[in-house]
Amino acid sequence: MTAGLNRRSFLHLGATAGAAALAERWGLSQAAQAAAPTDRAGQMRAAGTSTPVKSTKLHANIWLLQGAGGNMAVQTGKDGIILIDSSFATAVPHIKEAIAAVSSDAPHALINTHWHIDHVDGNEGMHAAGYKVIAHDKTKMRMSEPAEMKLFHMAIPAYPAGAIPSTTFPDSMKHDHNGDTVELVHYDPAHTDTDIYIHFQNADVLHLGDIFFNKSYPFIDEGSGGSIGGTISAAQKSLALAGDKTKIIPGHGPLGDKADLKAYIDMLSTVHDKIAALKKSGASEQEVIAKKPTADLDSAWAKSGSPDMFIGIVYRTI
Ligand SMILES: [Zn+2]
Ligand SMILES: [Zn+2]
Repeated sequence: MTAGLNRRSFLHLGATAGAAALAERWGLSQAAQAAAPTDRAGQMRAAGTSTPVKSTKLHANIWLLQGAGGNMAVQTGKDGIILIDSSFATAVPHIKEAIAAVSSDAPHALINTHWHIDHVDGNEGMHAAGYKVIAHDKTKMRMSEPAEMKLFHMAIPAYPAGAIPSTTFPDSMKHDHNGDTVELVHYDPAHTDTDIYIHFQNADVLHLGDIFFNKSYPFIDEGSGGSIGGTISAAQKSLALAGDKTKIIPGHGPLGDKADLKAYIDMLSTVHDKIAALKKSGASEQEVIAKKPTADLDSAWAKSGSPDMFIGIVYRTI
């Protein structure tokens, strides 16, 4: 796979430590990371096999599910179960087990927050179990064609028909379900150009997908429309929906609240402004990384390694 990378994208791979840190957040063991970087998807799926899915009750009929991939959520009730995101294909037995432990209601819908593998790879298995897949138009588009994530040396083939969302929307969707109003709203390009949030309005639970990494620097996918500015705007839009008691599910990291989201926005804005000033003064990406502009933030936010990959993404997407 690396043979297909041009020199420019190869330079972007310089921050291997950062990529490893992200891989770790995605549930990869050190041993898996030490393997040749030619099959990251295979390594992630191995983590899906070995990692159980833990459930945490957030509301009378809503649970947070956490396993190897992105954070999931489930809403239960007589209208049928709604699942948000599907982790890796190999996690499907764990997801089914976690759902069965909290509900015997019929399957209804699987909603994808965005197109990334750690959120949609289990779609085919959950679809086969009776869930119809709902997502933004561009999630369907990106899953329907082969894709590449250069930072991770990852080539992702088009997904099989059973995994592709069958119901899609361009802006928003609202659905009265299991006694709640469930709103799905597309963000302007942020972490990718496919991101949506899911708001259980009565329960006061928000799932923000990967526009929010709680208590760590985020990964932003510049290859599919992501940028630091877009991520800040999306997080601000989300903050406006949150009250002091709102439970906020990030794509990665522990369950959050309004204060966590506010702290995340403050961090992103600080990093954006520092790096924008350095870039404006003419500093190259490598020079900015060498200046360690996030040094005073790293102990709190660089959870599992180097901030260099994040700094590079910010620099390139300003
Ligand atoms: Zn993710
Ligand atoms: Zn993502």
